[in-house]
Amino acid sequence: MKDAVAGELAAAYHSAIVDRVRSNDYQYSAGRLTIHLAREFGFCYGVDRAVDYAYQARRRFPGRNVFLTGEIIHNPHVNDQLRAADIRFLSDPGERWDTLGPNDVVILPAFGVTVGDVSRLVNQGCTLVDTTCGSVLNVWKNVVRYAQDGFTAIIHGKVHHEETRATASQALKYPRGRYLVVLDRAEAGIVCEFIRKGGDSAAFLARFGDVTSPGFDPELDLVRVGCANQTTMLMTESLEIGEMFRKAMTDRYGEPGLLAHFRAFDTICSATQERQDAVIALLDEHPLDLMLVVGGYNSSNTCNLARLCAERVRTFHIAEPDCLVSSSEIRYRPVGAPSTGKVLESAQLGWLPSSGTLTVGLTAGAATPNNIVGQVIDRLERFA
Ligand code: SF4
Repeated sequence: MKDAVAGELAAAYHSAIVDRVRSNDYQYSAGRLTIHLAREFGFCYGVDRAVDYAYQARRRFPGRNVFLTGEIIHNPHVNDQLRAADIRFLSDPGERWDTLGPNDVVILPAFGVTVGDVSRLVNQGCTLVDTTCGSVLNVWKNVVRYAQDGFTAIIHGKVHHEETRATASQALKYPRGRYLVVLDRAEAGIVCEFIRKGGDSAAFLARFGDVTSPGFDPELDLVRVGCANQTTMLMTESLEIGEMFRKAMTDRYGEPGLLAHFRAFDTICSATQERQDAVIALLDEHPLDLMLVVGGYNSSNTCNLARLCAERVRTFHIAEPDCLVSSSEIRYRPVGAPSTGKVLESAQLGWLPSSGTLTVGLTAGAATPNNIVGQVIDRLERFA
């Protein structure tokens, strides 16, 4: 079946121009324009597999409805291609969960779904095609262990992201399981202060009540904590947050008591790490006029790549090739815009220097297929 869909996948996502850039030491030159492509970019192993399984599922179950619980990955182009291949999205208007039954096939996305959603689909008799990435499953395994042992999972992630919701739900498989989601260092700092000195539980819950497990009691549930994270967060920040909790626990219980109160393990997936490392290497190696980061505006790993780049060079996070509107105008997601709610796109005029040499860095998030990267190169060349 894998071979049967290989042609379909190539037609939908392959790019000859990207192949050429790769074989030319990740560099592309045309006239005054030079593009440096990061050495790791685009589809990760988990996304590759999920998209492949979705196409296979469509073929394996002819005549049956094939659904996705929601976006398979955070890329509008890929999701539209799947809709065109007659895969329906339960998140689309008019689609319903309550009428699903044994004749329906439901694909679970790469970032997984909650324990509650899986049970519901199983109880309704649906055939499930589970594409949850192995790196996400690894996080779940550790969170479940925390729950079994009475450790609260501190999850560095975005609370509305599907992966973080699914990971948090794993903590509730055992009666002693608890979770708390922290978005960044600032939030982690507040929790660490409570660990060190205690404080007003009501005030704590007013701040964190929406991101904790039901019935969370900071006095009791911050005594033993284990760190985990959404796999696509900024690696350096996740590591720092882990260290902040280690230190807070050491301050509170002393070095000898640490093992009984604190656990951590590395849950950034290797694909995320490689893409972040590659973009840092690109920025180190090449002086750039600007950087383009391509990926869905709700793609966590893409937003984090853009954050890394913006610290060093003028950076535009674009969702699609059409965001390069003209040689004078670009549409983009402002780096650091809130990760929840509808992201407002900004537009900038005069984004391309009009004369002289032009050196542009380029990378793409883990959900961005090569054909989109290729179209960005094409458009950039046209406007340069
Ligand atoms: S970003 Fe990492 S965890 Fe997420 S699907 Fe890709 S490989 Fe898996």
